[in-house]
Amino acid sequence: MAFPGPPKPSRVQRLLGPVGKGLVDLLYPRLCSVCQVPVDEGWFCGVCEGALPLVKPPYCMVCGEVYDGAVAGDFRCSNCSGRRLEFEFAVAACEAEEGARELIHKFKYERRLHLRGVLASLLMRTLEEPRLAGEDLGKWLLVPVPLHRSREVEREYNQSWELCERLSRLTGIPAAKALVRTRETVTQAGLNRAERLRNLRGAFAVMPGRPWRRVVGLKGRRVLLVDDVFTTGSTANECARVLKAEGGAEKVVVITVTRG
Ligand SMILES: [Zn+2]
Ligand SMILES: [Zn+2]
Repeated sequence: MAFPGPPKPSRVQRLLGPVGKGLVDLLYPRLCSVCQVPVDEGWFCGVCEGALPLVKPPYCMVCGEVYDGAVAGDFRCSNCSGRRLEFEFAVAACEAEEGARELIHKFKYERRLHLRGVLASLLMRTLEEPRLAGEDLGKWLLVPVPLHRSREVEREYNQSWELCERLSRLTGIPAAKALVRTRETVTQAGLNRAERLRNLRGAFAVMPGRPWRRVVGLKGRRVLLVDDVFTTGSTANECARVLKAEGGAEKVVVITVTRG
C-alpha cells in the first residue's frame, strides 16, 4: 500500500485554478509536519522524511520490538517468549524517536488535532505487514483503545479514535467505538507486569447499548485494535481479551503509530 500524502485539493480549490492555488499557498503555505519548513507536497520535508524512525525488520513477531542486528527468520524478544497474549501480534509504523515521538506528543498533549492526517498516513504503513497481506482488510474492523470519559473530556478528543476515523477514510476499513473504559486507571509507568494486569482488570468493556452493532457486528470479526503508542502491551492485551471474551471477536491485531 502506498504512503498517502495529504488529501487532494477540494473542488473549490480546483475551481480556483492555479491562480487560486497560488493564493491559497501564499495564505496557507504547506509546511513540513515536523520542522515547519515550507514544502511543495507531502507531509514532510526531505530531511524529516529521511529521518523518520520507520520500523523495519527484524522485529519481534509478537510485540513488534525492533531488534538491532541480524536475526535469521521469525523471532520473539525475551519479553515475549513464553508470554501468553490475547492479541495475535502488534506492529508499529515507527519507533518512538525523533520526529515521530514529537508528532505524537503534540497530537496527544498539545491538542494539535490537525496532526491526525499525517499520523494516520504513517499508521497505514502497518497494513503492509506481511502477515496482513493475504487478508481482506475490508472485512476487518478498526477499534480504538478507549479513553475514560473524564480523560476524553479533558483532552477534548480520543487520539486513538481520531486515528481510526482517518485510517478508515484512507482505506475503507470500517471503524467503530466498540470498547468503553469503565474506570480510570493509574498511569502504567513504573508498574511491573503483575501490577499492570491488576491495574487494568475490569477497566474495559464492550460498549453498552452497542449502537455500532447496527453498522457492523463484533462477533466472529477480525479486529485491528488502534492506538497511538505501544509500550508494554498490557493495555492492548486487556482490550483484546475483552473484545474476544465479551464481544466474540475472532482475533485481534494491534496497530500503532509508534513503538515505545
Ligand atoms: Zn522537516
Ligand atoms: Zn516481543
